[in-house]
Amino acid sequence: MPETIPSIGFGFWKVAREDAADVAYQAIEAGYRHLDCAADYGNEIEVGQGIARAIADGLVTREELWVTSKLWNTFHAPEHVEEGCRKSLDDLGLDYLDLYLVHFPIALEYVPIETRYPPEWVHDQEANSGMKRAKVPLHATWGAMEALVGKGLTRRIGVCNYNSALIHDLMTYATVQPYALQVEAHPYLTQDKLVRIAKDYGMEVTAFSPLGALSYVELDMAGQGDSVLTEPVVTAAAAAHGKTPAQVVLRWGVQRGTSIIPKTSKPERMRENLDIEDFALSDDEMAAISALNANRRFNDPGVFAEAAFGTFHPIYD
Ligand code: NDP
Repeated sequence: MPETIPSIGFGFWKVAREDAADVAYQAIEAGYRHLDCAADYGNEIEVGQGIARAIADGLVTREELWVTSKLWNTFHAPEHVEEGCRKSLDDLGLDYLDLYLVHFPIALEYVPIETRYPPEWVHDQEANSGMKRAKVPLHATWGAMEALVGKGLTRRIGVCNYNSALIHDLMTYATVQPYALQVEAHPYLTQDKLVRIAKDYGMEVTAFSPLGALSYVELDMAGQGDSVLTEPVVTAAAAAHGKTPAQVVLRWGVQRGTSIIPKTSKPERMRENLDIEDFALSDDEMAAISALNANRRFNDPGVFAEAAFGTFHPIYD
């Protein structure tokens, strides 16, 4: 059983529902043991089917897997936290999670599961109502997250997309240690201070979108020209080590002490992204890649929520 979060995991955001069972199976077959899921990704039923098939075929046992899921924004009210967690468990076909994360420090008005699931961001999609904020403080949500650990529904709990001020605040009221912080991190957004303070508080840090812009091209939130994979320091390190630029960027993420959860729908890339433990970047290479930092955030509710739903809702500023 993994006692600590595996350093390389597999992300399921934007894995098409019709592909997700096969992708989950192939990821496990390739060697991934950490599967990063979320209610909001809309594919937990299919991911669960892939997990079940992999277990039935003897590729892995449940205990050898680390399954993460996330509480969606509309389930923040304490009376809905367990419902959100149980829905993810049911969909995944599991009786416990290894890690359950608050997906965003954003509380939205509750949407019943039978009305719409996953609820997404806009409260009334037909009326195009935009986001509807709910008056639920994060400490109340956290208290209900702690209760999930007590009930054995999840082994550990944590948060995503918190800034350092929210982490300081969380540590004033948490009675269950937050196990992990999951945030966007890649060479264009190194988040050094945030990573440092989270670790100072004893949290693991997981980097999402570890390949940078690539995830956002299909959403028109970045262009191919924004890719960190063509940076000369990255391609030079790739040539020096006989690795691909993606492997160099992922290796940088692991070597700086974060875990990573790259997503791909392609089996050959699943293997490529896992195959980064047989080389090490030099101190100079690490420093040169870190120096690419431009505080460039691709996943920013303060930008996409207004562009997509007409609701201005910054959280990092
Ligand atoms: P990634 O950094 O994992 O990039 C994924 C993109 O890179 C896809 O377009 C994929 O294309 C491509 N890609 C993957 N491997 C390679 C490779 N070796 N060479 C070239 N291109 C490659 O981005 P994500 O945003 O998906 O982040 C990873 C995971 O983090 C998510 O899936 C999700 O689980 C989590 N996440 C969490 C968030 C949160 O708020 N907590 C927010 C965003 C993500 P293809 O599929 O065609 O191979």
